[in-house]
Amino acid sequence: SDPLTGAHAGKAIRLENVSKLFGESRAVDDVSIEIPAGSFTVLLGPSGCGKSTTLRMIAGLEGTDEGRIFIGGDDVTGKPSSKRDISMVFQSYALFPHLSVAENIIFGLRVRKVDARERREKLARVADLLGLSELLERKPAQLSGGQQQRVALGRAIIGEKPVCLMDEPLSNLDAKLRHEMRVELRGLQQRLGFTMVYVTHDQVEAITMADQVVLLNAGRAEQAATPRDLYERPATPFAARFIGTPPMNLIPMSAIEPLQDMPTGLLLGVRPEALCLADDGGLSGTVRSVEYLGADTLADCEVSGSLFQVRLPGSRSVSTGEALRFTASTADLHVFDRLSGGRRD
Ligand code: ATP
Repeated sequence: SDPLTGAHAGKAIRLENVSKLFGESRAVDDVSIEIPAGSFTVLLGPSGCGKSTTLRMIAGLEGTDEGRIFIGGDDVTGKPSSKRDISMVFQSYALFPHLSVAENIIFGLRVRKVDARERREKLARVADLLGLSELLERKPAQLSGGQQQRVALGRAIIGEKPVCLMDEPLSNLDAKLRHEMRVELRGLQQRLGFTMVYVTHDQVEAITMADQVVLLNAGRAEQAATPRDLYERPATPFAARFIGTPPMNLIPMSAIEPLQDMPTGLLLGVRPEALCLADDGGLSGTVRSVEYLGADTLADCEVSGSLFQVRLPGSRSVSTGEALRFTASTADLHVFDRLSGGRRD
């Protein structure tokens, strides 16, 4: 590692057709993922989709039933966790309550018999990096949630491993602190250069931090893409609905008055924020319900029997029963094949 900055090169990770079975059920089903060296990759998806199991297989805490896992080009499939050159941070932090902050952070270095002078130097650098220098003598119980999180982080990065694995590390923090820690984590990872694999079910966390998001659905990798591509070109209806708040409108094309000649089986997708009010032309609908949010207003509009959610500027007052016309630019339209589940453009 770089003696001044502590920067250490990340390693690439590859999963090849990896599966994990619990009894009859496939918790992870034929998943192949490429994680570039030095990237911040987020495993995202709803509860039970297999994120933690995938992470635990990369960590070597869980065996694979099918497929292979490579770290830095080495096949680590059968190797124990201790031989994989990784660090991990869990949701629970797993700090030792009877040890001080300093002792918690250098614990791994002690185990590896790193000499005292090197331990002191590394501790000083990591504590400085994480703003923990004044707290080194405290016990975990004397720290706030955010400070405990930083100690767990310090313990993970002090070993300068090329790969860091995190499972929902921010879920115990309040919204403001979570936001701060997101920025901090991302900055730290970019500065130090290790490869991050980060599990969350929170799309905002994924989109704000990731270089690459791997969206999992029922044990399968639905799409791997940059946050922007995931939002702008979702590959499937699931991806389209999972990313974005409120979710994308997905309506059978033939249900929309001007499009009833389109083949059945096609779904038209358009995000609530991509719809604009029009004076004439476009779709005409009737407002069925209104939710005023301050900066904007969400309106549910019925168009030939289907409901579209539309995001309007908060300054535009809308009322139930009102007739509205709206359009979207063609660049904001998404077409999916309902049967194959694939994108059509
Ligand atoms: P969450 O966000 O709720 O933590 P997840 O996406 O991380 O969910 P996993 O924890 O990987 O999901 O679980 C994937 C599936 O495997 C789930 O259906 C879960 O019930 C099942 N599962 C996980 N661990 C075990 C186990 N040890 N024994 C049996 N089934 C398990």
